Amino acid sequence: MHAELPSCDFCGKDSLSFAYQPEGSSRGLKVYLCRHCGLVQSAPRIDRTEKRHAAAVSGGADWGNVRYGKGFRTQAAMEALARHADLQQAATLLDVGSNRGRFAAAFLDAAPKAHITAVEPDERYAGSCQDLPRTQLIWSRIEDAKLADASFDIVHSCHTIEHLAHPFASLKDHARVLKPGGLLVLDAPNLVLIGGDDILEEWFIDKHLYHFSEVTLGRMIEAAGFTIVQRPDPNDRINLLFVARKSGMPQTEIAADPAETVRALNLITSYTATRAANRAALANAARELESLKGQRVALWGAGRLFDSLVRVGGFDPAMLTHLIDAHLIQHMDSRHGVRLSPPHALTGSMADVVVVMSRGFADEIMAEVMRLAPQARVILYADLLARARLAKAA
Ligand SMILES: [Zn+2]
Repeated sequence: MHAELPSCDFCGKDSLSFAYQPEGSSRGLKVYLCRHCGLVQSAPRIDRTEKRHAAAVSGGADWGNVRYGKGFRTQAAMEALARHADLQQAATLLDVGSNRGRFAAAFLDAAPKAHITAVEPDERYAGSCQDLPRTQLIWSRIEDAKLADASFDIVHSCHTIEHLAHPFASLKDHARVLKPGGLLVLDAPNLVLIGGDDILEEWFIDKHLYHFSEVTLGRMIEAAGFTIVQRPDPNDRINLLFVARKSGMPQTEIAADPAETVRALNLITSYTATRAANRAALANAARELESLKGQRVALWGAGRLFDSLVRVGGFDPAMLTHLIDAHLIQHMDSRHGVRLSPPHALTGSMADVVVVMSRGFADEIMAEVMRLAPQARVILYADLLARARLAKAA
């Protein structure tokens, strides 16, 4: 099986170079870097007729199908919309990848005269939007939804573009269906996260075909015919939230960006080294937790970091009094043989220690722990990992 290397989805040049082999890919994906424009992208591009896999929780590339990250971005999207649109006016909004309808419901609340067209291919979730008022559901992929030119005031797309086979064409299509001056609110994962000291899980997962930086996504939005009116928060290492207005025609010639190409290559190189070092230190992290035996230890966050702690670090989760996860518990009963509990299980648990295995939500979880189990000492993932790395170096 030898698929021919595609051309770069953004600049169209035959300039992809192999950059990285993801760990545990069930689809044989490889990560490539465009030597012309610097866009990081995976190939072969997924055959979208393939059957959906069951929900899988792992630290490797086969992670997926629980889709629990998107809902957390509703507030950020609504804040951006409140800043750039008059929500009291009648408006038509296209929600690309409407998922469980959490954003749609929030938008309908804030915009009492608005109408939504929700596009969602996943049969497990599409129904969630069916019962919303002022909402038309199109149960299809966005590429197959037959939408009229200049028919929307707003296009909202949250953590969807990185899954699409041809994101540049899709962005140009978002511009086509927007009225002149219409607003695009676009949110995607941020490649910069892989440069962090605490990266542990495989970031290049099978579900994501494109891996955008602020530079490559910003350039792609502008080249699709938009003017950017709000750039991503520089402190947000996880998300790239852009707001842009439809302003002109798409560009056909994409200029080279050698600096971005070098930046992306350096980032992938540092990611490979840091991730290997962190994985090698995990056995020490497991030992620190196992030294707490005899105390009541709960762990909050049963996702990818926890999976790595068990599978790579050899941590035995049987010592935990509670394994808490507010979101995974909606998808599965247990992880690594330990029953999942909801957060309120901490109330009255008399936990001595709560280990917070989360990066993006560490602050929120810590606040919840202090409310539910104020007596407990908190161990944060970042600190646990930093100590484990020091012990490894010593
Ligand atoms: Zn390119």
